[in-house]
Amino acid sequence: MSRIDLLARLETARAAREEAGLLRRLRTVDAREGALRRIGERTLVDFCSNDYLGLADHPDLVAALTAAAGRDGVGSGAAHLVSGHHREHAALEEQLADWTGRERALLFSTGVMANLGAMQALLGAGNVAARGASVCVQDRLNHASLIDGALLAGSRLQRYAHGDVDDAMRALRAEPDRGALLATDGVFSMDGDVAPLRELAGICRDEGAVLYVDDAHGLGVLGPRGAGSLAEAGLSQADAPLLMGTLGKALGCAGAFVAGPAAMIDGIVQFARTYIYTTAMPPALAAATRVALTIARNDTEGRRKRLGIHIARFRAGAEALGLPVMPSRTAIQPLLLGDPEFAMKAATRLEDRGYLVTAIRPPTVPAGSARLRVTLSAAHEADQIDGLLEALNAAIGAHP
Ligand SMILES: *Cc1c(COP(=O)(O)O)cnc(C)c1O
Repeated sequence: MSRIDLLARLETARAAREEAGLLRRLRTVDAREGALRRIGERTLVDFCSNDYLGLADHPDLVAALTAAAGRDGVGSGAAHLVSGHHREHAALEEQLADWTGRERALLFSTGVMANLGAMQALLGAGNVAARGASVCVQDRLNHASLIDGALLAGSRLQRYAHGDVDDAMRALRAEPDRGALLATDGVFSMDGDVAPLRELAGICRDEGAVLYVDDAHGLGVLGPRGAGSLAEAGLSQADAPLLMGTLGKALGCAGAFVAGPAAMIDGIVQFARTYIYTTAMPPALAAATRVALTIARNDTEGRRKRLGIHIARFRAGAEALGLPVMPSRTAIQPLLLGDPEFAMKAATRLEDRGYLVTAIRPPTVPAGSARLRVTLSAAHEADQIDGLLEALNAAIGAHP
């Protein structure tokens, strides 16, 4: 028999990864308080979470979660379309639509599922015979779930050079007869730079393509009232119909949503399998997220400003030390090191000094661009940032 042994093949692939020094490793946080994480015997300052506004352990969110769980229980019990859709979900969807200036918002259990499901619906409309009838044009550095969404939909996938509007235009013009969706991260998750959204909206209008923006790292951080990168770019629903946002990053909760014109959202309800066939998120989580949204939107506690001050402090310090910062003005401030082994070594050295920063290596980022992905949060204190800079200087300063 010549059948491939799947388990042996997996073990071989795993071993090759280990050999290349690229094995991924799971670690367990024993306790957390603000930006601090206790891992085993050590307490580390976390500089790699996406809790940009420091809302994940906000007492008002915790109170809302526990109060709602006391009222409504823990699990939703069913999918949204069965009996799992609770008024807390409906209220959160309304608040999200209002915040982002879109007609309607639809909750998903995770951002990965939102991208997979929405793209499956938009590119395929549930029609298997439609496979290949659409083209999905994507930035080369888009999040993995956008790439996977296009593949799942059976759409033709065309990737353009990072942030290159002319290349995106060429990709659209090369496929004049297929339905086209252009998908981009609003803020790139591993680089921290912002997509040229106004220009992309322009070519989508000219080429009759639909623009889909994944704003996982922009929502809550950028734009007036934290409404995200599209709001910052002044792009309304008419310019950029579909906005995907996550609830597990700046909002400090979990889950995601897609917002846009009501008819498009209803189409996604009909055909997104990751929406239809999964249990609705706990209603108590929706209740906590509503509180997070209000805090993020009104920002009476000045969290966005505090984050902005931290970003400026980190960049000024890193530049003064000659650290290899990248062109980012967001909470994601990676240091480009190149060599994955060196990035791992630097992360270990930082950990020895009390700072948790993950090394990001291929295939998450392109070969030769391993980095330390530093993220900043309103939960940090200025002296923690100064301490990190000092530790970074010691860990990588000597590197050519
Ligand atoms: C984190 C992230 C996602 C996935 O969101 P989850 O809710 O964590 O599944 C999607 N897109 C981007 C750009 C992200 O950074």
